[in-house]
Amino acid sequence: MATNLVHTPEECTERPPAGDPCIMVIFGAAGDLTKRLLMPAIYNLKCDGLLPEKFAVIGMARKDLTTDSFREKMSTDIREFSTRSTFDEGAWNDFVEHLHYTQGSFDDEGSYSQLADLIGKLDGEYKTGGNILFYMATPPSVFGIISDNLERMGLRSEENGWKRIIVEKPFGTNLSSAIDLNKEILQYWQEHQVFRIDHYMGKETVQNILAFRFANGIFEPLWNRNYVDHIQFCVAETVTVEGRGNYYDKSGVMRDMMQNHMFQMLAYICMEPPSSFASEAIRNEKAKLMEAVRIMTPEDVRNHTVRGQYGPGKKSDGTDNVGYREEPGVNPESSTETFAAAKLHIDNWRWDGVPIYLRSGKALGKKDTEILVEFKKAPEVLFRNTPVTSLPPNQLVFHIQPDQGIQLKFQTKVPGPTMKMQPVNMHFSYGEAFEAARGTGYEIMIYDCMLGDATLFSRTDLVEQAWQIAQPILDVWESEPAQGFPNYPVGSWGPKEAFDLIEKDGRSWLGMSNIAT
Ligand code: NDP
Repeated sequence: MATNLVHTPEECTERPPAGDPCIMVIFGAAGDLTKRLLMPAIYNLKCDGLLPEKFAVIGMARKDLTTDSFREKMSTDIREFSTRSTFDEGAWNDFVEHLHYTQGSFDDEGSYSQLADLIGKLDGEYKTGGNILFYMATPPSVFGIISDNLERMGLRSEENGWKRIIVEKPFGTNLSSAIDLNKEILQYWQEHQVFRIDHYMGKETVQNILAFRFANGIFEPLWNRNYVDHIQFCVAETVTVEGRGNYYDKSGVMRDMMQNHMFQMLAYICMEPPSSFASEAIRNEKAKLMEAVRIMTPEDVRNHTVRGQYGPGKKSDGTDNVGYREEPGVNPESSTETFAAAKLHIDNWRWDGVPIYLRSGKALGKKDTEILVEFKKAPEVLFRNTPVTSLPPNQLVFHIQPDQGIQLKFQTKVPGPTMKMQPVNMHFSYGEAFEAARGTGYEIMIYDCMLGDATLFSRTDLVEQAWQIAQPILDVWESEPAQGFPNYPVGSWGPKEAFDLIEKDGRSWLGMSNIAT
């Protein structure tokens, strides 16, 4: 059942105001992130009328580029990475005039004088009122040196216009490095200036979780241990490490996916209603929820987590793929996990006794990010003396990507003289209901940062609390090397132990009925 109402964005929303006038300085602008995600996102903002007129981008990196060659490079890259179905030449040609470049190394003081001169010149030209958004598209190891030099050049002072910094993940590689990184950042910047980005939070489907929960009267009363049996979070990727073996081998799925994206989604699904939609009200509730997640003991880690690593197999597109240990850049004896599953508990009044299952992996059979809220079953006793022997539970599924929508599964009577039941789906699809352009998730984040709205960004305490949950798991995994890796083939649904984890509780992973393991 799909809704047949189609709304254009204009019908659904009044166009919001453009972001504040500003100069956006991208440190590391010659890198992968800038061409693949940032430029397409800024261009989408331009096309949607959300970029201020008084706006300029300055790219800075070591690469020997000039403003002209930077513009040329971005003009080529945007045609490859734009997310829009048709390319708006006019919008791009207008936008490209606002791109500038200054070449320099982050540890070279002279480079910052050049940067300061260019900022001063463009601030006058574009009338950006001294507002500067610094985007750290760089490894975290250079944040300190960049911040130090900005201070030296007087570029961090908010006396004349706001100064904000967007920090990319990873926010540390373990609890202690996250605390150190936060200390370093807060030594230079105040919390209101720091925007730690997790682009998952920018996805419409993730943002809609809060709207869905708190704008509909029928679900929130059921959203607790009295009615919910369990909750599942699944982030399944079909891609392997795709040439990023060197990076991934130091990370693994717990650091790369669970500790950040999945814990953030968990907070949205399970947090208490905030007092308002103001940034701090939402972030306070997220922090409270994260604090209530039970920290695992080593015994819990052994019993309630599973890790896996892919071996050779056929990808979902039918092509053969080597095992993880044969991937370029990966240690041939690596025990880095490319798959993980875990069962968590939330020790608060609302969720006591409701298990939360998480599962994520690379090289799986299907690309899917979804969240399942499974309700307690209706009693079957009423149907005694009928052909109905069991009643499957109602399931509410949030499809985050690539499908975007919400699905409610319930039982209906099959037409006919006997009482037979069949589960059916009530399905809302974003694609069918709205003509919204597909974004990268970065659009809203950059736009919100221009407006100073930090709702979607992670605060210091949230980042550290997420690491408090992940660290004991990583500690046990590190001290007890994985046995039997690789333990699942490319193109499968992960190791058998992941099925055992949930099946021993009498439950099963969502989507398992129609996908071969
Ligand atoms: P790249 O390695 O592709 O790019 C890094 C950029 O930083 C390059 O432009 C490089 O300049 C510049 N750089 C590094 N060190 C210096 C230095 N000392 N002085 C001047 N410039 C320097 O990295 P990505 O773009 O992929 O990633 C950047 C950050 O974003 C990382 O923290 C990454 O974890 C994060 N991230 C990346 C994602 C992605 O999809 N790529 C997704 C999410 C987060 P040059 O090339 O000129 O040397």
